[in-house]
Amino acid sequence: MNKVPFVTKEKVEEIVKTYPTPFHIYDEKGIRENARRVNEAFSWNKGFKEYFAVKATPNPYILQILKEEGCGVDCSSLTELELSEACGFTGEDIMFSSNVTPAEEYVYAKKLNAYINLDDFSHIDFLKDCAGIPETICCRFNPGGKFSLGTDIMDNPGDAKYGMTKEQIIEAYKKLKSLGAKKFGIHSFIASNTVSNDYYPTLAGILFDLAVEIKNAAGVELSFINLSGGVGIPYTPDKEPNDIMAIGEGVRQKFEEILVPNGLGDVKIFTEMGRFMLAPYGALVTQAIHEKKIYKDYIGVDACAANLMRPAMYGAYHHITVLGKEDAPCDTVYDVTGSLCENNDKFAIDRKLPKIDMGDYIYIHDAGAHGFAMGYNYNGRLWSSELLLQEDGSVKLIRRAQTDKDYFATFDFGEYFDKINFKG
Ligand SMILES: *Cc1c(COP(=O)(O)O)cnc(C)c1O
Repeated sequence: MNKVPFVTKEKVEEIVKTYPTPFHIYDEKGIRENARRVNEAFSWNKGFKEYFAVKATPNPYILQILKEEGCGVDCSSLTELELSEACGFTGEDIMFSSNVTPAEEYVYAKKLNAYINLDDFSHIDFLKDCAGIPETICCRFNPGGKFSLGTDIMDNPGDAKYGMTKEQIIEAYKKLKSLGAKKFGIHSFIASNTVSNDYYPTLAGILFDLAVEIKNAAGVELSFINLSGGVGIPYTPDKEPNDIMAIGEGVRQKFEEILVPNGLGDVKIFTEMGRFMLAPYGALVTQAIHEKKIYKDYIGVDACAANLMRPAMYGAYHHITVLGKEDAPCDTVYDVTGSLCENNDKFAIDRKLPKIDMGDYIYIHDAGAHGFAMGYNYNGRLWSSELLLQEDGSVKLIRRAQTDKDYFATFDFGEYFDKINFKG
């Protein structure tokens, strides 16, 4: 599978006349089409809802598009709740799947009538004391051990800080019921970035069996089962992407096999995907500004890890297209680097690319989720703008670039702020 940019070199040349590089750009058409496929894949389930994980791409214009496609939001912090509220999400449109939650965030989530998803047994009393137990409540499950699909170990939930053990979660439902809760949900996130059509169906099987056990052991019938995130995308061009229709069908089969015969056929299926909803529909566009040849050949670009941290943080692969050189042979080996004084600030290492000239635009694929959002300001590097390629082909600014004044804004109380000679 060759990865194809959703903007051409000509389009970028037009965009930079108004919005200089680096910038993140999102493809509205791609986002909408994918969201529609997700809803279609689960249309067999009456109450299905995708709660987009806000942390992946916390931009109100993106949230608005997803809202129009019928999605809710998954939040885990006060500011994510505030952003969602500003976008018009209310009550059952909001899933609050937090952990290590401060009291004021529970209070706010309860005020918004969001679904509150408890990460731990001890949070029952914590929530009761700070906000009260709502009528509908969700608990997060952690099965422990290692999670495998076939012979592949996918992740290590036994090592993850999230969720409750099976014994705890059964006790949690009993306790919540005794405290007046009337409706219940379960949530679990046990593997990240799975590129396999079996992840959701396997997780669904585990949670559906557990739902039956909870019904028998705690006398609680779950109203919803939240499969959370973890459906991934292939960052490398050699892998097959997930087939969301096959995934939806796999979950349906488990539903028919386990829930329906046990009188739980009304359960609503929820998802909380971030990466699958947005990653392929966003890119970081940056320009080659330096070439340096020492022991290796380096291309220096005007973006850095502060704009896209995944390669530096996880050693993650992000595919690169040199715009206008799509068909040129990849006959030169480069490290593509940013300007941070950190040697891990490399978008690509030993990557075979077409010969790059100064001024070339470098398109870094699959940056639409956990991309801009993980940005930081190390070395005083500023956040880029975010742009939306709209369905009619026009480009809209959906977040302006950070300025030096924004960067220094938290000094606005004292004697230094007024002495800074702001350039931009
Ligand atoms: C991060 C996160 C998600 C989204 O994960 P993706 O891998 O982007 O799908 C969903 N739910 C919770 C609770 C998360 O922390």
